[in-house]
Amino acid sequence: MKAKQQSFTIWYVIAAFLALFLVQALVLAPHVENLSYSEFKSLVAKDKVSSLVIGKQVITGTLAANGLEGLLPKEKIDELERYGGGVHRFVTARVDDPGLVGELEAAHVTFTGSVENTWLTALLSWVVPALVFVGLWALVMRRMGNTQSGLLAIGKSKAKVYVEHSTGVTFDDVAGIDEARGELMEIVDFLKQPERYQRLGGRIPKGVLLVGPPGTGKTLLAKAVAGEARVPFFSLSGSDFVEMFVGVGAARIRDMFAQAQDKAPSIIFIDELDAIGKARGVSPVMGGHDEREQTLNQLLAEMDGFDTQKGVILLAATNRPEILDPALLRPGRFDRQVAIDRPDLNGREKILKVHTRTVTLAPGLDLATIAARTIGFVGADLANLVNEAALRAARQDKDAIDMTDFDEAIDRIVAGLERKSRVISPREKEIVAYHEAGHALVAESRPHTDRVAKVSIIPRGVAALGYTQQLPVEDRYLMTRAELADRLDVLLGGRVAEELIFSDVSTGASDDLRRATDIARHMITQYGMSETLGLATFEQPRQALFLPVPSGQPKDYSERTAEAIDAEIQQMLNAAHERVRATLGARRATLEAVAKRLIQQEVVDRAALVQLIAETEAATS
Ligand code: ADP
Ligand code: MG
Ligand code: ZN
Repeated sequence: MKAKQQSFTIWYVIAAFLALFLVQALVLAPHVENLSYSEFKSLVAKDKVSSLVIGKQVITGTLAANGLEGLLPKEKIDELERYGGGVHRFVTARVDDPGLVGELEAAHVTFTGSVENTWLTALLSWVVPALVFVGLWALVMRRMGNTQSGLLAIGKSKAKVYVEHSTGVTFDDVAGIDEARGELMEIVDFLKQPERYQRLGGRIPKGVLLVGPPGTGKTLLAKAVAGEARVPFFSLSGSDFVEMFVGVGAARIRDMFAQAQDKAPSIIFIDELDAIGKARGVSPVMGGHDEREQTLNQLLAEMDGFDTQKGVILLAATNRPEILDPALLRPGRFDRQVAIDRPDLNGREKILKVHTRTVTLAPGLDLATIAARTIGFVGADLANLVNEAALRAARQDKDAIDMTDFDEAIDRIVAGLERKSRVISPREKEIVAYHEAGHALVAESRPHTDRVAKVSIIPRGVAALGYTQQLPVEDRYLMTRAELADRLDVLLGGRVAEELIFSDVSTGASDDLRRATDIARHMITQYGMSETLGLATFEQPRQALFLPVPSGQPKDYSERTAEAIDAEIQQMLNAAHERVRATLGARRATLEAVAKRLIQQEVVDRAALVQLIAETEAATS
């Protein structure tokens, strides 16, 4: 876009120059006939030259109006008469001819010498090239410095400064992610009335990190903050810092923080924080990335340096928190992390409401039905869905968007998302519901494991289709054998539920099984929790960092022991499997109740889960 605009202006300049030369050649410059020196000499001799100017290299002058026949070729005379406009101008190259002056005097020709460097030649010979160079230089600089001009701006931050309402986005435009929205509304409130919060000595958070999958509305939320905070809002994206010169990114950070503090109270927003916040010093081959490291160090230093008393709050967003440098997440930097999940049924309906505000819907169209069909969709997908449906309805010359438009748009978007494995079919939804219900129910029936905080069948990330979130009861540094065994059971709960209900199993449990196997292996080889292998520990061959593991590296134990370990792992998992089958078999009615509730609501929190379990068990016993 930008490059296009620039070449556009260049063409303008070139066209203007061409036009100028054309005008000069056609209108301003009179016709001048080129004569050979001998022709010129014969004309002088015949007294046909009326006046002339002798320059350094050329002689120019005018000829007598008539009587040229025989002295010049016919075509030249014709041209002189046709274009000369009554005056016959000529030019000839000057030849070293010392006798010329005498001949001219003899022929009574008026002649003058001339200094040829007129303003035009001067212009053409050095002003124009200079202009061209300056133009080129400015162009290159502009490309390097992007929006601001020249070298001087290179260390300046490119932060866009938004003032009140200039983004046009308000909190009303953000739906379905109420927790995050509430959190940010609070931040805005901090800035508006800091005294209220500091009254009891509390400290306003320095940094808030928005974490969530792409398209869930992180950038949108930040824009809403900009629209509502009524304070200067500096916004830039992590990718803006990818610079060609070492140190420029750091300078930009410094400049942005300085500006923000100058204009405090204010908000700084760094989108795509992961682009600068990647963990430092782990790149084994390249020896790290200097520029990014410096930028990150500067950011860390600035975050430590500024003081929320002055009313500057740092907002950042990322969809890859796992690659962030741990230093960024230390307390005192991003004090708050706001997780934004894919919206649930209810949330999706609210988001649809927001995006259908400006389109014409057929009367009676039920957004809840659409929400139910779009599990896994994020806000951006839903916005896209409404648009697709509107376009389809318009293509068919309808007066309003109806359900068939939405149906088709959903199918189209789902087809696109399926490749990213983010959308699940009703059948898969059922399997995932039973799987997660299995995890949850086993967790609730084991005394030594964490309580279930939330069960969800909304796809999360690429691998996990649903998840059961457990809250640790207390901090754990030691785990007993009973606790590990219970953890094994919870991991197998999903798989066993599938076995019980569908008499078949899916691939969805692979991660659970891997983790269960890991736990069992550790119990046997590290913690001495196996009866048959006793207290001895068995080291795994250690993997050298970044180097391929040479095959056949010696283990610290014999092949026979290795076999025994494998058998013991198998045995431990089988025992857990038996236990879980017994548990879930006995509570099958409850399992079904939880799964059905999940299919209906997608998310079940702790309170609802506990209540549901109690109710079903009371009814069946
Ligand atoms: P992210 O920054 O998390 O990747 P964006 O904020 O850029 O996602 O969201 C892209 C678009 O999707 C937004 O401009 C908005 O139209 C829509 N959108 C996303 N989340 C929501 C939401 N919670 N409510 C309303 N619209 C949303
Ligand atoms: Mg974004
Ligand atoms: Zn599972």
